[in-house]
Amino acid sequence: MCPLFVDDSVIMRIVRFRYKARVAWGILEDKHVRILDGLPFGKIRPAGLAVPVNKVKLLPPAAPGKIILVGLNYRDHARELNMRIPKEPVIFFKPTTALAAHKQNIKYPEGVARLDYEAELAFVIRKQGRNISEAKAKEYILGYTCLNDVTARDLQKKDIQWTRAKSFDTFCPIGPWLETAINPARLAIRSYLNAELKQDSHTSNFIFPVSRLVRFISGIMTLLPGDLISTGTPPGVGRMLPGDTIEINIEGIGSLINKVVK
Ligand code: MG
Repeated sequence: MCPLFVDDSVIMRIVRFRYKARVAWGILEDKHVRILDGLPFGKIRPAGLAVPVNKVKLLPPAAPGKIILVGLNYRDHARELNMRIPKEPVIFFKPTTALAAHKQNIKYPEGVARLDYEAELAFVIRKQGRNISEAKAKEYILGYTCLNDVTARDLQKKDIQWTRAKSFDTFCPIGPWLETAINPARLAIRSYLNAELKQDSHTSNFIFPVSRLVRFISGIMTLLPGDLISTGTPPGVGRMLPGDTIEINIEGIGSLINKVVK
């Protein structure tokens, strides 16, 4: 493998996958996945073995101990909702059992009246940290991916607390891979429902940039390698029904595609 460097970052697409009975991490190359020796958090060590990409099943590119999401974080979404710009981020959790892979089905739960998609940029933590400064935040990030913050909107309104509305199995699709060297403040972010454009914004609209989120969250809780943080959704969230296909597309990363099934 010949890594490319931009500034001090190595450009790589990191995948987590199943190949035959084995679950492993790897680097996505043109038509192959180069298997890593162990986890991608320390020094990345390719094991030398490569398998054809069409023979692997992609898994969520994170196996986090915790998933932390941010509420309102786009200026254009605040305008759409006629809400004031928050002074500090509002954060919440999803359970790790909500994770789903690229192309895995989102299960529409029985009794939910309104199920929404929310296109989000997410990132995975590379090393343990507490009280991380904004200047150091980048060192703690392994890579970026697409996330769909699937939400049972009727339950969110009814419960006030968001846990039930955000936590059903498959309510956290992420993928398809981690992109290690992109500028998280300069990305177009879009969602398409059945190929129709629904959300169309840009991460330059962030209220709290990624470095600020790392500082804020690590001031509350220790971040551990693998932890997943999502950065909020832009305007245009809307409803999904069984049979629908939802695509989250982020510039420099690619598309996360999932189908909704009853
Ligand atoms: Mg959200």
